[in-house]
Amino acid sequence: MEIKRILIANRGEIALRALRTIKEMGKEAVVVYSTADKDALYVKYADVAICIGKERSSDSYLNIPAIISAAEISEADAIFPGYGFLSENQNFVEICSHHKLKFIGPSVAAMALMSDKSKAKQVMQRAGVPVIPGSDGAVADTKAAKELAKKIGYPVILKAAAGGGGRGMRVVEREEDIEKAFWSAESEAMSAFGDGTMYMEKYILNPRHIEVQIIGDSHGNVLHIGERDCSMQRRHQKLIEESPAILLDEATRERLHETAIKAAKAIGYEGAGTFEFLVDKNLDFYFIEMNTRLQVEHCVSEMVSGLDIIELMIKVAQGEALPPQESITLKGHAIECRITAEDPNTFTPSPGKITKYVCPGGRNVRMDSHIYQDYSIPPYYDSMIGKLIVWDTDRNRAIHKMKVTLEQLIIGGIKTTRDFHIAMMENQDFIDNNYDTNYLSRR
Ligand code: ADP
Repeated sequence: MEIKRILIANRGEIALRALRTIKEMGKEAVVVYSTADKDALYVKYADVAICIGKERSSDSYLNIPAIISAAEISEADAIFPGYGFLSENQNFVEICSHHKLKFIGPSVAAMALMSDKSKAKQVMQRAGVPVIPGSDGAVADTKAAKELAKKIGYPVILKAAAGGGGRGMRVVEREEDIEKAFWSAESEAMSAFGDGTMYMEKYILNPRHIEVQIIGDSHGNVLHIGERDCSMQRRHQKLIEESPAILLDEATRERLHETAIKAAKAIGYEGAGTFEFLVDKNLDFYFIEMNTRLQVEHCVSEMVSGLDIIELMIKVAQGEALPPQESITLKGHAIECRITAEDPNTFTPSPGKITKYVCPGGRNVRMDSHIYQDYSIPPYYDSMIGKLIVWDTDRNRAIHKMKVTLEQLIIGGIKTTRDFHIAMMENQDFIDNNYDTNYLSRR
């Protein structure tokens, strides 16, 4: 089935990113926008643009009836969800199918298996994927948490089953802290996700976060597009991502890729997805969660593979078969820096009008951003305003290239994290690949 017109149910850089691929494939792009986004670039470039509500996400980008109506009015035949918003909403996927709209992503069944992180771990364990020791499913209350933590041994981490973006997570070092941690994580999860279900894991000391990009088609094929190292984090949120993860030796890397493919096949996965792992000092890796959608950091995988992952997602949704794994070659090294409208020292948001914008370019430099001069960053959404990605033949060259490129990036009128990233590209520990997920919290 050929998809002709795709509605992008998202905003910001990813809406523009998806629009470009859709148009390049000779298809039409329908976009939806909130009143706060009326001046967005993706609105200007779209074949059809429909306002779906007020500024607040709940009135617009999470407003399912408005999005479905927009798809019907514009006669779109598919929906591209991007990341965040409705991208992992099973109810939305079901409603799309009732309206004969092809959701460009996995089936509801696969999504359901992975959406509860504690249940996903059980599914993966049964499929033979190594997981972090912890609770078998949810932890009911503080009493159960105490008993289990004693068995596992401190430190432990309490995590929200519905979690995402590093929220609803607490590290607990001692038994006397467990009640307070449980209650605060639970209430944070309740207000962020409307679900306070908690589970527990052994807290791995200073791990690396390494994830595998996979994509599956409707013919049972699953490919990997290499791995990404996303260990440079602040409060469990990724700031810098790279591919490949040079920490891994070739044998471990191959095992990691094979594990991800085995995991995807075990759940009959179709579409793009990511298996996230923590890697300890001995290079043992443990599954932590699967993201059943495109991720922010997919671009580094595109740079090392030369593939367009959104194009592959659309082809898979059309029922096409993926190319063989052997046809994919991974070359060189790619790094991505997430540029946010935040103070580079305190990370407090800094929305407002961009008075000056000079975007770097050159060989193997990519800026995925929706901003332009005189654009006003609305205060209602995520503070990410762009991703700067560079590719070079090896990691050292890529780091140097990123530094030089960041220095050429000029964004005036608001504060951005550009200078934080420049400092990281000059940081000897980063250059030496001598860091872990807690590096920034120790400083
Ligand atoms: P989210 O879905 O909120 O992103 P994840 O489960 O993916 O949460 O974990 C995010 C980050 O939190 C990881 O990359 C890692 O830095 C930290 N983390 C999560 N679980 C553990 C653990 N068991 N031990 C140590 N760090 C952890």
